[in-house]
Formats: sequence, C-alpha cells, structure tokens
Amino acid sequence: MVVGGGVAGLFAALALSRRGNRVTLLEAEALPECASPVEAFELWERRGSPQSRHSHAFLARLHNGIKELAPDLYAELLEAGAQPLPFSDLVRGTFENPELIPEDDEIVLLACRRITLDWVLRRHIEKSTQAQCRNDIKVTGLIADRDEATGLPRVKGVRTQAGSGEVEEIQADLVVDASGRNTPLATWLNEIGSAKLEKDSEGCGIFYCSRFYRILDNVETPSLEGPIGGDLGYLKYAIFMGDSRIFSITLAASPDDAPLRKIRNPDIFQAVAQSLPTTCRWVDSAIAEPITDVYTYANLKNVRRHFIADGQPLALGLYPVGDALLHQNPISGRGCTSAWVTAWLLADAYAENPDDPLAFALAMDQGVNRELVPWYANQIEQDRAARERSEVDVRGEDPFAFQREDGSVDPKAYMRSVLAHGLVPALREDIVVMRAVMRVFNMLEDPRDLMAAPDLLGRVLGVWGRREEREPLRMGPDRGEMIEKIASASP
Ligand SMILES: Cc1cc2nc3c(=O)[nH]c(=O)nc-3n(C[C@H](O)[C@H](O)[C@H](O)COP(=O)(O)OP(=O)(O)OC[C@H]3O[C@@H](n4cnc5c(N)ncnc54)[C@H](O)[C@@H]3O)c2cc1C
Repeated sequence: MVVGGGVAGLFAALALSRRGNRVTLLEAEALPECASPVEAFELWERRGSPQSRHSHAFLARLHNGIKELAPDLYAELLEAGAQPLPFSDLVRGTFENPELIPEDDEIVLLACRRITLDWVLRRHIEKSTQAQCRNDIKVTGLIADRDEATGLPRVKGVRTQAGSGEVEEIQADLVVDASGRNTPLATWLNEIGSAKLEKDSEGCGIFYCSRFYRILDNVETPSLEGPIGGDLGYLKYAIFMGDSRIFSITLAASPDDAPLRKIRNPDIFQAVAQSLPTTCRWVDSAIAEPITDVYTYANLKNVRRHFIADGQPLALGLYPVGDALLHQNPISGRGCTSAWVTAWLLADAYAENPDDPLAFALAMDQGVNRELVPWYANQIEQDRAARERSEVDVRGEDPFAFQREDGSVDPKAYMRSVLAHGLVPALREDIVVMRAVMRVFNMLEDPRDLMAAPDLLGRVLGVWGRREEREPLRMGPDRGEMIEKIASASP
C-alpha cells in the first residue's frame, strides 16, 4: 500500500510492482484525466505537492536508473518530449576541445517538466503494471496491532476517507508513506502507540521563485552552452530545459534580504532574468513568452525523519520514502533522484525479507544511510556556509577578505575565497574539476570523496593561487546594481 501519488509514491509503486508485489496507490488529490503532459500542466493543480509546479532538474543517477531498470518508461518519457542532456553537450560551450573520457557517458541529466515526469510515470504504472492507482482517497490513519516478539506496533493497513466522504479500512502487508514533506506520520505513529518520531530540521536560507516560458513559434531554441546557472552570493539562478518547447527559470534568494524578496513580482522577475548573462537571451521577447505567473516557495528546510531509533524501527510493516523520509534544499535538485533510489532500496529490501518486517526495516535504514545521508549532510554544510555568506553580503562587507588586521586568517572567508576564486573558475578552466563536481552533483559520487582527493584540491588551489592574474568572473550584477534594477522595474 503506497500512500501518496507524488514522484516517490509512483516510483515506489513501480519498483514494488516490478519485484512482483500487488500494489495499491492512494492519492488524496482528485487528478483529472489528461491526454497529454501539456494538458496536465494546465489542469493538475497539485495542491498536495506544490513544488511540482516549480523548475525541476533530474540528475544523472535518476536518468541512468530509469534507462537501465525501466527502459520502457524511459522510451515513453522521450516520446513525451523529455531530452537527455549529456555532459559532452554541457561542456561544449565552456571548453573548446574538451578531453572526454568513457565515464563521461554516465553523466546525463534528463530535461523535462516535473508534471511531465509524473504524468508519464502514472500512465506507465496504470498501463504496464498490476498496480492500482486510486485518486481522491486520503489516508487518515494506520491500522495496527502489536508484534509479540518485538513489542513494536505492527501496521496492518490504513484508514481512508474519499472525497465523497466515504470511509474505508484497507489491509496491507506493507504500508509505504510517500505523502510528502508534510506527512502526518508522527501523528499516525502516536495514534498506534509507537515511540516518538524524531526529526532534524534546518532552514535552507533561501526562498524559490520559478517561472515557465514557451519558445515562440518559428524561433529556434537557443543553444544550451556554458553554465546553466550561477551563484552571485545574494542570488542563485538557473535555467531548466523542459519539454514541449517550454523551459523555466528559477531565482532564489535569502528571505532576510528585503529588496530581493520583490523578485516574486512578474515584472521584477523578468527584469532580473534579463540582467543575468545566462538567462537574458532566453527571456528575450523575440525568443520566448512567459506562460505562467511566478510560483514561489518559502520556508524551505532540510528535514530528516528518524524512523529507526536505537536500532529499532518505530513500527513494523511501515516505511517512509521520498520527502516524508528526508528532503533537502531544492537547489541541489536531488529530491526525485533520492525518491528513485529509495524506491528501489525498498523493493529490494522487501524482496529479500518478505516475512521479516524487522530485517526489512533495518535493511532500509542501512541503505538510506549509505545512499542518501552523505548528500544530505553535505547540503546542510553548504547551506550553513551560504547563510553566513548572505549575512556578510547584507552587512555590506567583503565576503572574501580572509586576512584579518592582526595577520590571522578568517577560515570561513578563506574557504569562501577558495570556492569563489578557485573552484568556480576551475570549473571553466579544468575539465577534471568540472567532471568531479558534476559526478557529485549528479549523485554518482559521494561528496566526501570530492575535496578529499589530493589531486583535485591541488588543481583548485592552483587556480586560486592565480586569482590576481585573471579578470574576476562576472556571473551577473553585484547586489547594489541589482537592487537598482529591481527599483527601476518596480511597478
Ligand atoms: C521549490 C522546489 C524545487 C525542487 N526542485 C527539484 C529539482 O530540481 N529536482 C529534484 O529532483 N527535486 C526537486 N525538488 C524536490 C522534489 O520536488 C521532491 O523531493 C519531490 O516532490 C518529493 O516527492 P514525494 O512524492 O515524496 O512528495 P510530493 O511530491 O509532495 O507528493 C506527495 C503526495 O502525497 C499526497 N498525499 C499527501 N497526504 C496524503 C494522504 N494523507 N493520503 C493520500 N495522499 C496524500 C499529496 O497529494 C501528493 O500528491 C524541489 C522541491 C521544491 C520545494
């Protein structure tokens, strides 16, 4: 029984079905039937998953996983307009004659809108698996008794309420909570007498604004060359290729930066996008037109729920996946890839322990600690550093001034300088650095291996050592200039 029909629920239903289980998926929203992803983009409100209407990048680990484990789904995605974005294309605009190696073939992102992914995935599950998807049915609680051997609650199914008001109890051997970041799991567990569900939670330090644009008829799509985004410290931005000649732009800033909060306004969003070197040619009115308002997402957090406490699951016959288990700053684009990875961990752990719910839960925990937690921990560190940088910017101080008056070194400012004047230019000068960063970004390599590699660190420090010799990289206006642009675009 899968609770929630977002991407994690759909991936879980797919993986469990492919491993031979009979699956029912319950989704609270009444999603109208749609004949195409374009129609779904218009009709699916997705109030239960508002981020589905934001820009989404799908990382290589997800692209490769779908291609390998569900080639039929992969073909359907391409048919619906999704496009593979290989490393060789992404570096073409940056390096004149990039020296590619065979492993670079693993770095391929998938470009399409999130609604397109969900629509294709749902149709695929309905047509190509035995899983049953029921919409307009909200899970309201768990049915459980107590496992005699462990003393833990043993989940036996769920209680539901349909949009019509009809209530039902549905039995299940395994309940998968894929109800997203606002899951009521803590309450449900409390109701069946389980120990408290603890969670770590830390702000990401940004809010998100996304807007979708359509390339005009008879206009060629601009080529995707050079970086597809940038980090100005006070503002992060990126362009996301979609499908059906639609792309989106996302701008993200600190919620504490009052003048930047105005980017939620469509006119100001447009003016800001026009002022950024990467996005300006895409939002040119001769190339594309905006087709949506500016979607915003505030109060973003990194959250991890600890379903295993003191080596024991809080309940048997139940496991959370997707955002209900762990979610992190969307800037890293890892949510859907993490959902995919967890879905297959789940299907494999269940296949190996069909009659041992305790062993199943412990196998899941091990898998999650190995496959997801290192990236989550890395994101928390990055967000802390970004928040500190933003505070320095807002105070109007130089974030890179690492030499203190007394001759000592400010380690945080030093690190910022190495990243901004070492790592960032190295991404344009040295394909070895670019490759290593892209492998971590795409969840193909553990982030802890990145800066621990002596060769890589040497390369970055080499570029940093020559920082005085090169013109500073300009990824966009500085904050003062941007605030002036925002003021002049204000209605
Ligand atoms: C602004 C933003 C941008 C993002 N960008 C990216 C990106 O670029 N790349 C990426 O990979 N990830 C990105 N993410 C993360 C990604 O969107 C999430 O990780 C992903 O949506 C998680 O999927 P999910 O299925 O766990 O949750 P959701 O997509 O939230 O789905 C949960 C589903 O459960 C249903 N539900 C809730 N309660 C119940 C109930 N009681 N009974 C039945 N159904 C219920 C809801 O209606 C919903 O359909 C972004 C997130 C945000 C916030």
